[in-house]
Amino acid sequence: MNNDNNVGNINRNEPLPLCVVPGLNQRIAAMLEQKAGILGATELFEALQERRLETLPDLGMNELKQNLERWQANNKMSLGFALERAREFAGKISAFDSNIVRIEVTGALRRAEELVEQVSLIAVSNDTYDTLEAFLKLPEIAEVRKRRDYKADVTLQNGLKLEFITCFPEQLATTWALTTGTTEHRTQLRNLAYKYGYELSLGGFLKREDVWPAKDEEEVFRYLGLPYIPPELRNGNGEIEAIQKGEMSLDLVTLSGIKGDLHVHSTWGNGSTTIEEMARAAIKRGYHYLLLADHAGQNANLAKLLQQRAEIYRVNDVLAREGYNFSLLWGAEVEILPDGTLSLPDEILSQLEIVVATMLSGLHQERKQITERLIKAMQNPHVDIVAHPTGRILNLCEPADLFMLKIFVAARETGTVLEINGNPDRLDLKAEYIQQALEEKAKLVISSGAHSTQALAHLEYGVLTARRGAARASEILNTLELNKFKAALK
Ligand SMILES: [Zn+2]
Repeated sequence: MNNDNNVGNINRNEPLPLCVVPGLNQRIAAMLEQKAGILGATELFEALQERRLETLPDLGMNELKQNLERWQANNKMSLGFALERAREFAGKISAFDSNIVRIEVTGALRRAEELVEQVSLIAVSNDTYDTLEAFLKLPEIAEVRKRRDYKADVTLQNGLKLEFITCFPEQLATTWALTTGTTEHRTQLRNLAYKYGYELSLGGFLKREDVWPAKDEEEVFRYLGLPYIPPELRNGNGEIEAIQKGEMSLDLVTLSGIKGDLHVHSTWGNGSTTIEEMARAAIKRGYHYLLLADHAGQNANLAKLLQQRAEIYRVNDVLAREGYNFSLLWGAEVEILPDGTLSLPDEILSQLEIVVATMLSGLHQERKQITERLIKAMQNPHVDIVAHPTGRILNLCEPADLFMLKIFVAARETGTVLEINGNPDRLDLKAEYIQQALEEKAKLVISSGAHSTQALAHLEYGVLTARRGAARASEILNTLELNKFKAALK
């Protein structure tokens, strides 16, 4: 699964602290830093793979290596990683067989699960037999793990596990509906069909010898007496009952409804793109505002922040003269220190347009302490948004042991907004927390946390996660235009 930019799923642009490595204690971390100059997780993974650490005194390296291997073996793909690969591969395979009319993502990936084992694709074809035959001859396939007459489970040369399902055009609606949801969800759909005297199969609704195809998924659900259920909600954990009782709203937030990104970095911090490039990329994505939130730790200085503000104003002027309805906002990502105070003094915070606060280190504090720490930061009148609130890194770093209910209540009471970070290795808040936060009436935004223009696209994974958390557009603040958005902040 590794390529030039990734170790596992981890993007090298994103600095990862050593603490994310399973089983790595402070003593070893200090030793690695002093003896080998290794400061981050990615550097450590590389050094281990290249066997550069074998001369070091025994630091528990063997155990560390085993942990690393176990991590890599158990590693499911992140949503973002899998979706990118699925789209890339789907783009290629539509060319290999002229019978293919359409390729669609299905399964866990379409439900937007945060980690997926395999990519599932449906190839809609005018000749499913030929399509499957042609697919199995692709040079990208390293191993065929399972084969049936309509589908094959394969592993690609690059390690990607792929489930390739074929169907005829008139079978797409039922095939899609029966391959998207979890087993529980699909069983419930089948049971509903039985209730109406039909059998729901991949090929259509069956009754004795007759087959009724459905024209689209809306129709499949309508036949079952249901409204269209967004794929992200098809988890078989009570959504069908909730929908039948009218307790679940289905007008979920969409990417096209997002008006701005509230957490990006530039070359003024540790990003790779200038402020102006970031702004122009945001305009291309259809946004009306963008918050620069470069890291401002304890050694950040006011002079530099003011220079950055001048640059932001300059770019805003240029863009306004070009006629764009777009505003760059001057902000910073300040650190919430272990005692709950912030890395910048109030007199600087009060000058920034929007302050994003985050816990970057000391995430292993015990529950009471870290919960109070975050609440104390939220009580600061200048803190507008808390970024990636739990600090988890998928596959690597456990979330902080926060009393989440208290966090959501404090967010509501202080008017602090909680971020849904779309970085595929974070997705923080996660779906379950998004749902709980909304029940507690906490305010939420979806941000990319991008360090480059390409990573602005990560906001989509945040949207998908918000949809899994059943968030409606009206519950996400950055679906608002800028003046209303600003008015909704504390
Ligand atoms: Zn950031």
